[in-house]
Amino acid sequence: MSTRAYVTYPGTCPDCGADAEWRGAQLLLDGADALCWDSDLQCPACGLALTACGGDELPLGVRELLLTAHGRATVRVGPEARSAVVMRVLRASLTLDLVSVRSVLAEVRRGTYVCTLPEAELLARWMRAAGVEAVAEWLADVRT
Ligand SMILES: [Zn+2]
Repeated sequence: MSTRAYVTYPGTCPDCGADAEWRGAQLLLDGADALCWDSDLQCPACGLALTACGGDELPLGVRELLLTAHGRATVRVGPEARSAVVMRVLRASLTLDLVSVRSVLAEVRRGTYVCTLPEAELLARWMRAAGVEAVAEWLADVRT
């Protein structure tokens, strides 16, 4: 299953300066082991069409928009999952240091780790590849 989340956000046409809307999507492709990002802009004034895509670095602020527009997701691991294995996957996938990986592990255990659905699905894939039972799921919308 490929997972995708996209949002639109206002921008400016780099050619003519008119207000134009960007559409950005965060994607996890079928069988992929990394997220990718693409965005496009269609200028209503001059007709310029731009497409940009990249790795997993979302443009600033867009991740927040995705979380707001699509809701928050998390990755859940089974209670029998070994912390050492989960931490190893988290460290490798999120490039965390030893201190922060412990707090992320605690969040995952409590079910309070927040990410986008494509991110959660990718983490769950990596966990399962490491032999940990894991699922990506939507977080109940509890505003904090
Ligand atoms: Zn334009």
